[in-house]
Amino acid sequence: MSERFFPDSMPAPLASATTLPWWEAAAEHRLVVQRCTSCEHTRHPPAPICPECRSGESDWKEVSGRGEVYTFTIVHRPIAAGQELPYLVAVIALEGSGGLRIISNLVGVDPGEVAIGLPVEVVWEEMSADLAIPRFRPVSEEEPR
Ligand SMILES: [Zn+2]
Repeated sequence: MSERFFPDSMPAPLASATTLPWWEAAAEHRLVVQRCTSCEHTRHPPAPICPECRSGESDWKEVSGRGEVYTFTIVHRPIAAGQELPYLVAVIALEGSGGLRIISNLVGVDPGEVAIGLPVEVVWEEMSADLAIPRFRPVSEEEPR
């Protein structure tokens, strides 16, 4: 099941040869981080070479999609027609990722209720048949962890 939070008019991200596997995993609703197969250092966004050991070999490690708000901002100006305002841009510290953070959007939460350290989980937004984008929402307190 997919929910929609942003309009179709949102600019679509562009995949490259380096990032395509990440987007393909996202299309399957799997949140992954790139992991160096030489030294196991994880990195995000995807890059062709490990910043720690310079190896060009890597694989993809799936993470839980849980994390917490590292920082955020409340945006009052639209970047696409028909966009609801304000919207939230956040840096999410990803659980089990080796300390990685991802820039995304917070959804399903009142801007006044967002705080640094807020536990969040991924929610996938199907923008088209082959493009799913990870957004994050507060972890429901009723859900078992
Ligand atoms: Zn490495």
